[in-house]
Amino acid sequence: MDRFTDKVVIITGAGSGLGRATALQLAAEGAKLTLVDVSQAGLDATQAAITDIAASAEIVSIIADVSNEDQVKGYVKQTVATFGRIDGFFNNAGIEGKQSLTENYAGDEFAKVLGINLSGVFYGIKHVAAVMREQGSGSIVNTASVGGIRGVGNQSGYAAAKHGVVGLTRNSGIEYGEFGVRINAVAPGAIWTPMVEASLRQVDPVNPEKAGEEFIQINPTKRYGKPEEVADLVSYLLSDKSTYINAQVIAIDGGQSQKY
Ligand code: NAD
Repeated sequence: MDRFTDKVVIITGAGSGLGRATALQLAAEGAKLTLVDVSQAGLDATQAAITDIAASAEIVSIIADVSNEDQVKGYVKQTVATFGRIDGFFNNAGIEGKQSLTENYAGDEFAKVLGINLSGVFYGIKHVAAVMREQGSGSIVNTASVGGIRGVGNQSGYAAAKHGVVGLTRNSGIEYGEFGVRINAVAPGAIWTPMVEASLRQVDPVNPEKAGEEFIQINPTKRYGKPEEVADLVSYLLSDKSTYINAQVIAIDGGQSQKY
């Protein structure tokens, strides 16, 4: 039997990148999915890709902004109303924000990045964990970043938010373990998604390809990660194959964060 047969999983940021790759993997393994994103086009593309590989998959697509607590409550409520439970939650939506030296980092940009990347993750844990605690089971995977365990530079909002996601993961992981609910985080390095392509255009608007080449030269594997590689890790953490892993932050970065 597949790991996710009849399991119900919510994925935020499901319209692109890591969220889409994870949605595809879970659907192929029998999950019932709630896909959440701010982008209708992204959700439509993910749903079409799922239909190609798992035509009978049960999917609910919801437009919601994770930085708005009422909308988070809404996608949780709609999932329970439709499927009756929540077994897994990939709390993943995020943005990079504009890169700049801290003294030039705009206050409203900082608030925006924290609103989505940190408050959004907090609201998600808060409302999903309540459902899982009642059930006595469930697994939450938050998306942190290597930028949440190391300094990166020019990313005040992103670094603060992702370090915050690490803190939330450890804090709520130890709170909910006794209720049968596990809460972990993944900390991806540079994974080839639209977010990383846009990031390289910020680093070097004239020659993003060159910036991209330089970036991977410092990685032990000399390459970018693939969204499917992150989806494999997330799926494992959401599944019942990882039942003694809790409150952990797991880097998936080709070893880059271990480099001196
Ligand atoms: P992506 O841009 O491909 O996908 C992000 C998705 O989130 C998009 O579909 C976007 O519409 C959605 N989104 C943005 N703001 C939202 C909001 N307010 N509410 C709901 N949905 C929203 O990026 P990705 O690379 O797949 O990133 C996914 C997560 O992984 C992010 O949290 C990101 O910070 C993190 N991450 C990515 C990398 C990487 O190298 N790609 C590395 C470390 C961490």
